[in-house]
Amino acid sequence: MHFNILTIFPEMFPGTLGAGVVGRALEKKIWTYDVINIRDFAINNYGSVDDEQFGGGNGMVMRPEPLAAAIDSIKNRGKIIYFSPRGPRLNQKMVREFVADTNTTYTLICGRYEGIDQRIIDEYDIMELSIGDYILSGGEIAAEVFVDSCVRLLDNVLHGGSESTDNESFEIGGLEWPLYTRPSVWRGRNVPEVLLSGHHGNIERWRKQQSDEITKERRPDLIKENKK
Ligand code: SAH
Repeated sequence: MHFNILTIFPEMFPGTLGAGVVGRALEKKIWTYDVINIRDFAINNYGSVDDEQFGGGNGMVMRPEPLAAAIDSIKNRGKIIYFSPRGPRLNQKMVREFVADTNTTYTLICGRYEGIDQRIIDEYDIMELSIGDYILSGGEIAAEVFVDSCVRLLDNVLHGGSESTDNESFEIGGLEWPLYTRPSVWRGRNVPEVLLSGHHGNIERWRKQQSDEITKERRPDLIKENKK
């Protein structure tokens, strides 16, 4: 998988993506990325990429020319995504769809200021994508969320292979059951007996029941979603 990342803060990459399993996958070239500094395509020698908003109001808007030049400089763009609170909210099912074709390239536009000129979205075939109902100061963290959630699903990234992704929250049709490791007694708190029993059928039933209860209590919307 390849990602072209358009940003005015190239130093933010690989950032968190350089650590842990995703970082190791980067070293192994299971995924690759190029950072394109939008300022390299600024409209003047001062590096300007933004301007005041037509119609008035506070906050600057990213001008179309530098962004267009940055996009045009990329040979293989693949699908273009602009991170924006206005897009559909990313979820695990969408991540699965994004990685379905592991040879895909994604071009990721990280907005800053109030966002980008609408004509960029209209001119190119761009999908808007949100990572949640809150406002970030820039799209860079959203891009890292996107890349991380995709890459961990690629082959040979997680230790247990597909086993360690299939068992996770959202993948199991709800939220994960409580997790326990050694020691079996800690500060007087015991690990549930069933988990020490070695009885796989009972363990599986307990986990399913815990998962169902927690999902019903915390995220009833997920249950409705699964029934669709
Ligand atoms: N004026 C915009 C918010 C701009 S925040 C609005 O009201 O909708 C600046 C940039 O941060 C955006 O251009 C976008 O790229 C990024 N961003 C902020 N919140 C985001 C979110 N929830 N999901 C994805 N990207 C986000």
